[in-house]
Amino acid sequence: PTPVNPLIKEYVNLAYHGMCAGKNPIDVDIQLDMDDSVGEVEMNAEDFSRVIVNLCNNAFDAMREKILDKHSESTDSYKPRLTVRTQNTGREVAISIEDNGPGIPEEVKDKIMQPFFTTKKGTAGTGLGLSITNDIIKAHGGSLDVESEPGKTVFTITLSR
Ligand code: ADP
Ligand code: MG
Repeated sequence: PTPVNPLIKEYVNLAYHGMCAGKNPIDVDIQLDMDDSVGEVEMNAEDFSRVIVNLCNNAFDAMREKILDKHSESTDSYKPRLTVRTQNTGREVAISIEDNGPGIPEEVKDKIMQPFFTTKKGTAGTGLGLSITNDIIKAHGGSLDVESEPGKTVFTITLSR
């Protein structure tokens, strides 16, 4: 059993420092909305860290891309924001990771879980993050869902408690 809320705080910060404090820093407003009653899930901490870090890294990449996108109208006032929520839904725990990046285009959405699918240039992406993340969650009897529209992407992990 792995305690959800404390490890989410740890891994979100780990991902942020790994991705956003280095060579190309971006300032992200990180909001944690933790339900105190979520408790624990049956997943070892290493797998849990992979899942959280992979999804956060994708969110940070997406928001960095939006900052670098010279064509977007509102670049000046754009403030990257990552919102991570946990929720006790009874028998399950829902963990959602939301970013206000560009969103996932409709024609891309169907392919994102496929191994080696990436829209990132050069060696920036292996295309394995979501495929591994999805495999880990499924191996624990859970599910990974995505909802996206321009300016907003939400990945939701559901695991039994
Ligand atoms: P990689 O990060 O190496 O490209 P992933 O499997 O982690 O591979 O993600 C696959 C693709 O899904 C990304 O290249 C990107 O196009 C899309 N994607 C994933 N997360 C997001 C997100 N939060 N916002 C926009 N696009 C995303
Ligand atoms: Mg990735």
